[in-house]
Amino acid sequence: MQTPYITIDLKKIEHNVRTIMTLCKKHDVSVAGVTKGTLGMPEVAEAMIRGGITWIGESRLMNIERLRENNINIPFLLIRSPHKSEVERVVSLADISLNTEYEIISALSEESLKKGIVHKIIIMVDLGDLREGVWPDEVMPMVEKVINLKGVKVIGLGTNLTDLNGTIPTYENNQQLVNLAEAIEEKFNIKLEYLSAGNSSSLKLLGSGKMPERINHFRIGECILLGRETINREIWPETHQDAFVLSAEIIEKKLKPSVPIGEIGQDAFGNIPVLEDKGMMVRSILNIGRQDTKVEGLCPRNENIEIVGATSDHLLMDITKDARLNVGDIVSFDLNYGALLSSMTSPFVKKIIL
Ligand SMILES: *Cc1c(COP(=O)(O)O)cnc(C)c1O
Repeated sequence: MQTPYITIDLKKIEHNVRTIMTLCKKHDVSVAGVTKGTLGMPEVAEAMIRGGITWIGESRLMNIERLRENNINIPFLLIRSPHKSEVERVVSLADISLNTEYEIISALSEESLKKGIVHKIIIMVDLGDLREGVWPDEVMPMVEKVINLKGVKVIGLGTNLTDLNGTIPTYENNQQLVNLAEAIEEKFNIKLEYLSAGNSSSLKLLGSGKMPERINHFRIGECILLGRETINREIWPETHQDAFVLSAEIIEKKLKPSVPIGEIGQDAFGNIPVLEDKGMMVRSILNIGRQDTKVEGLCPRNENIEIVGATSDHLLMDITKDARLNVGDIVSFDLNYGALLSSMTSPFVKKIIL
């Protein structure tokens, strides 16, 4: 079999979705399954749909296009703010988009009018994580302008916490979103159908019963794909963490010193290696490197072996404690989100659906 490869267990993904949906349904929260960690893989989207998600959330139009071409027919939510250069594609590919800039929303409206459609938008509010979002006191003036645009309809407010700076979702910051929504509803006499509060970092608050009731929409990626919440990366109860497993092949096995010989300068990535002298070591090289994955996000499934370094094309392992491993053997890894994202994006990693 061609290596390296990543196996994708659709049953485990579906199970993870069902677990999350049980909690979300209990609190009347609907969920967009976020596929960006898989390069918008249609089979993963299908597993999410079987598990009960009702929208697909994607950050890339190319991925939405791929999903649509593969007959995924549920509403698509574009979760990265649209680019001015691609508004035409946004309104033709996405049913709904998350927005923060009046200039873009106005362009979306114009494009929709040309096509004779109405594009739905959710306005993102920055509740402190300093990633995307309108500052709270600017939401009202923004809605006031947007409401006059005929080609777009504001269907809700959203927020994205934790992702950039680790801001933890609380009752208070979520209630701030609810308060804003209620003020808007009253002032403009409209109904905001969706308050899209969270990603995987909001599940804990929901589970504890402390999420304000009006929050009724989440966008979930990591917890579905990898079975972890994202505040402390704790395992989410009754989910699988190994729906994705990355495997590579040993191409060299040698007994060598654990520290290099000679004067030491920079490595291929401009770093100066600092290594502990552990004496002689059984070292193996795997046929996977920084072009294929985010090496720091890998965890060997065999606890007796350890990653000691990586280049673009090689992963160096200390296999002293499991020296039975040999050239041609396969070594497997669990992945964190960054490693999953990069492996699914690398053309060199074969994708195998189980
Ligand atoms: C990636 C992303 C999500 C999903 O986050 P997870 O932590 O993977 O659940 C949700 N919303 C937005 C805006 C995102 O960019």
